[in-house]
Amino acid sequence: MQKYFHSVMLDTEKCKGCTNCIKYCPTEAIRVREGRAQIIEERCIDCGECIRICPNRAKLAVTDPLERLAEYKHTIALPAPSLYAQFGPRVKPGDILGALLDIGFDDYFEVAVGAEIISACLAKYLRDSDLPRPLISSACPAVVRLMQVRFPGLLEHIVLLDTPMEIAARLAREKAMQKLGLKDEEIGVFFITPCPAKVTAVKQPFGNRSYVDGAISMSIIYSDIKNALQSPSTIIRENRSPAAGVGWGKAGGENHAISEHWSLLAVDGIHSVINLLEEIERGGLSDIDYVEAQACTGGCIGGPLVPQNLFVSRVRMENLVKILHAEQEQLPPIKVDYDSCKLPGPIKPRPTLMLSEDINEAIKMLEQVEKITADLPGLDCGSCGSPSCRALAEDIVRGYGESSYCVFKLKEKLQILAREMVVLSQMKPPAMGRETLKDNQNKQ
Ligand code: SF4
Ligand code: SF4
Repeated sequence: MQKYFHSVMLDTEKCKGCTNCIKYCPTEAIRVREGRAQIIEERCIDCGECIRICPNRAKLAVTDPLERLAEYKHTIALPAPSLYAQFGPRVKPGDILGALLDIGFDDYFEVAVGAEIISACLAKYLRDSDLPRPLISSACPAVVRLMQVRFPGLLEHIVLLDTPMEIAARLAREKAMQKLGLKDEEIGVFFITPCPAKVTAVKQPFGNRSYVDGAISMSIIYSDIKNALQSPSTIIRENRSPAAGVGWGKAGGENHAISEHWSLLAVDGIHSVINLLEEIERGGLSDIDYVEAQACTGGCIGGPLVPQNLFVSRVRMENLVKILHAEQEQLPPIKVDYDSCKLPGPIKPRPTLMLSEDINEAIKMLEQVEKITADLPGLDCGSCGSPSCRALAEDIVRGYGESSYCVFKLKEKLQILAREMVVLSQMKPPAMGRETLKDNQNKQ
């Protein structure tokens, strides 16, 4: 079985086995066994929903520390557009980029530039592609992984274009190699990430390689940037953050940046994304050309690793995009090399929800699942440590659980046992002139 990298981990010391997380996981990847949560690694898509919901802070995202900068001769920060919405209204993108240099990066390259390039590619893709409609964005790695796990039949809808992060990283590397004569391995490119899904995309990319060397959590680097903003040493005067690319940081921004008149739909929040994908699976929405789908409510400004409140960030992002648009009317368009932005091949499924790879065996197992499910109470209470009665039935068939994990089944068994104990307590050996067990049972 393939080994998967995961940014989302469990802190077993903090986990109290409360079962809060199991129902929120979109791929039913969590079980609670022996008083602790366990993540089924083949199913986890690193969406970070469990990080948000855990009341004990027992789920965490493993990201790269700032100290990793010391491993490289030349380091480049890649700020996600959502970073710009984390500070006060007077803080401009140029101030944040200056602060990134003050805290130790040698250079920066805005992911917003990559987003602007992909926006132009998407318009061409929509014109040229004969893939089934609606096409689905490849930008959110949590959504792509969700489709690999739960909707493998829809993978052919995904646009085979790289993400803005990867485009920005590749261009940043090329620029540093050309300008400074550096070798590829001397350059360290670090993404400032709003989510664990992007960390996983860096460590286990969809393409052949990632041009990013590490991902630093936005919430961890936030206070360093904030301190640097208070007494800046580097002033960036001539910054040109592209407005449409910056707008990708919030839900709807990606569609807004595709300037042509297509039928575009934006959906955000993992459970809304699932509802929409189910609709597409049923054959609906073929009148829609393109779906921008983001796992986080509000888009990347609502990522699990952003420090600021989503509603505050949304207003800041909207205001910033308006200002940038007004400032940039005279700027020339960004150059786009369409072919260099394509993914090398289709995205493969990860059919981990299948009961068996052997179809006959899978059918038999499914019949067992149906039978066990019908025998369970159907309350989906989660007390068994599985997210639903059906999930427990599947766990039993796969050998990961027993019917006695269900408290109601356990109660039934205890009642039977209690009745038997009453019978046994009334028995005496036949030599003492009393009935046998058989006689007693016949009376019951
Ligand atoms: S990160 Fe997402 S998929 Fe993984 S265990 Fe948590 S909620 Fe489930
Ligand atoms: S919506 Fe953005 S922040 Fe959330 S998982 Fe997707 S890429 Fe990450």
